[in-house]
Amino acid sequence: MLHMACLANIWLIPVENTQFVSSRGNEYFCEIDEDYLTDRFNLTGLNTEVPYYQYALDLVTDVFDLDADDDLREQIEKSARHLYGLVHARYIVTTRGLAKMYKKCDFGKCPRVLCDGHPLLPMGQADLPNSSTVKLYCPKCEDIYNPKSSRHASIDGAYFGTSFHSILFQVYPALNPEKSMRRFEPRIYGFKVHAAAALARWQDAHREDMTWRLSDFGIDHKFIEEESESESEEAYEYGEEVSTAKAEKIAGDVASGRMDLGN
Ligand SMILES: [Zn+2]
Repeated sequence: MLHMACLANIWLIPVENTQFVSSRGNEYFCEIDEDYLTDRFNLTGLNTEVPYYQYALDLVTDVFDLDADDDLREQIEKSARHLYGLVHARYIVTTRGLAKMYKKCDFGKCPRVLCDGHPLLPMGQADLPNSSTVKLYCPKCEDIYNPKSSRHASIDGAYFGTSFHSILFQVYPALNPEKSMRRFEPRIYGFKVHAAAALARWQDAHREDMTWRLSDFGIDHKFIEEESESESEEAYEYGEEVSTAKAEKIAGDVASGRMDLGN
């Protein structure tokens, strides 16, 4: 069984596909349970999607037994990778798959400064393969980013799908970060740039309006800054203007306190 050993070294998947998941470039994937892979119901429709389907499935489930030449073997390996990815997209929205991805939770950090390195989640912009590559979603700024590494940048987004991250937050709501009002304010020599400042005012007005409308329906949504305003210690971490104002006030209090002491 020399050829099997070779195949396994190249990429796959003897029992529980650990080798694939642990090899370079495949860090975003989790291990699919063997019983999930071997249940034909979970693979419905994939036979038309993947060339050399049966061989690819045999390879993924470690029962491959064909003395193929190099070209054919390469084709089958490519198909097996594709098959694994497509099953992966289905698996990660199951209870066990969500739990595995939740535990894994190491997909990089948001590059946006104001997100303070919030953890990212892999996602696809389409559920059909060969539409776009995998992107990373930041739940704090609710935006998506390209992976830093070129190894990850070529992975098909359909291997994660468009719904995974949203379902994860439905199942684990505590993972969803509190929303923040912080934003970058462009300035020229300290003065706010007019157009950006006007847009920010417009957004603030709409946010306030929406907060009132939501409260009419009994939905009380707070931003992280509003919660921390009542706790003066935490206000330092968020909202520059609030913390600056408070810092000045506290500095003033300290100064007047000193003066009082002096008297
Ligand atoms: Zn972010």
